[in-house]
Amino acid sequence: MISGSGRCHYHPQRPGLGICVECKNVICVECTTQFEGINRCSTCLSAKLAKVKRPVTRREWSAGNVFLALMAVGLLYGTVYFLASLAA
Ligand SMILES: [Zn+2]
Ligand SMILES: [Zn+2]
Repeated sequence: MISGSGRCHYHPQRPGLGICVECKNVICVECTTQFEGINRCSTCLSAKLAKVKRPVTRREWSAGNVFLALMAVGLLYGTVYFLASLAA
């Protein structure tokens, strides 16, 4: 398809086999990863997988959980203190 530099971008001593759809680099058979039927180099695939595997919402959710837990403890403590002051 593309003539000229038929060498792998990551392994200059190896012949290139395909082209990564993400970075358009020529990649050898070892660097080629087929994901969803599309050729990607291992660098772009790991970057894509890292993006998929690490949702940003999860971090916010855990931070929100800590905040909610603190609020619940504070509310419970306040309620118990209030009831105790009423009973006294
Ligand atoms: Zn790539
Ligand atoms: Zn390679």
